[in-house]
Amino acid sequence: MSDFSSLGLSDWLIQQCKQMGISKPTQVQENCMPPILEGRDCMGCAKTGSGKTAAFVLPVLQKLSEDPYGIFCLVLTPTRELAYQIAEQFRVLGKPMGLRDCIIVGGMDMITQALELSKKPHVVVATPGRLADHIRSSDTFSIKKIQFLILDEADRLLEQGCTDFTKDLEVILAAVPVKRQTLLFSATLTDTLQELKGIAMNKPFFWESKVRTVEELDQRYILTPEKVKDAYLVHLIQKFQDEHDDWSIMIFTNTCNVFKILIATDVASRGLDIPTVQVVINHNTPGLPKIYIHRVGRTARAGRHGVSITLVTQYDIHLVHSIEGQIQAKLKEYPVEEKEVLKILTQVNVARRECEIVQIPILFIHRYFCCEYVAVG
Ligand code: AMP
Repeated sequence: MSDFSSLGLSDWLIQQCKQMGISKPTQVQENCMPPILEGRDCMGCAKTGSGKTAAFVLPVLQKLSEDPYGIFCLVLTPTRELAYQIAEQFRVLGKPMGLRDCIIVGGMDMITQALELSKKPHVVVATPGRLADHIRSSDTFSIKKIQFLILDEADRLLEQGCTDFTKDLEVILAAVPVKRQTLLFSATLTDTLQELKGIAMNKPFFWESKVRTVEELDQRYILTPEKVKDAYLVHLIQKFQDEHDDWSIMIFTNTCNVFKILIATDVASRGLDIPTVQVVINHNTPGLPKIYIHRVGRTARAGRHGVSITLVTQYDIHLVHSIEGQIQAKLKEYPVEEKEVLKILTQVNVARRECEIVQIPILFIHRYFCCEYVAVG
């Protein structure tokens, strides 16, 4: 594996990386950074947690430090949370050069944002809807001279409610220069390519990771009858809490509540960088392999180890087969002491029934553990 200097990265950025604990490039960085530094357009298909943000942040900072002006780079991303995470990486890595960034997302004050834009930050990280609103309503800033246009999680940008997004994107594309470097990152590039034909790219460098899930991830399943599934879930949480009380567990389910143990719906399954998740539990088997890949990608990030456990009922076996086909690996059975599960079965079912009466299906976990009930996510 190459190091950052052989990829053409400047010493000051290598030092900044070290301070963040980043010493060796990840695959997407190793492959995409050299063409970006050469000035080429780039399309990267990167698995979650692969370090793709730094893969574009580092080259942009390097180019920016050679010829600093604002607004130099525009990053479009689907959610506020991602916008904050991207801006944070720009801020930390770009600190020595006094980087100025600006986050333009919905739900924040338009006037404050307009003022920040007029101060010509080096980097603007935006969700498309809000940025398009600013372009439509204000002439106090210009993105006519940007050098970089970056579309992060492009596939998800497209899922945002098609017609609005297309209109917003048209407004933004009309406001940026034709001569620019365009970088596009997406988890599913083939689908995205079809839909993003409108974005002019100049013979882009194309990179796709062959690996869909990382080696550090131990992918497991538990075969359980539908009726006993919740008892298995509770048993697993108990087991991990007993054996590793400092571990974080992320549970993906169909409902949307966050407990002390983070329970997430697919809203959280992409992009969010929660570095300390050691276990992902799929309370339901994802219907699409793509969703499975995103969910389990919340653990085993950036070289760390992690385990994913998918609860598979008698109705889900065909779903597991299509997941295994996509990831080109077999899920291994996770060993469970069935009698331990049976011990708690009645208790779990009672708690669950009580919750169903007040129509909060998954709250039974909270009740069972009496853990602190944290905000809904
Ligand atoms: P991303 O795929 O951009 O969401 O990055 C996931 C996490 O990996 C972030 O917390 C980064 O700080 C971290 N990261 C990025 N590049 C590296 C690297 N080369 N080595 C170790 N960690 C990294």
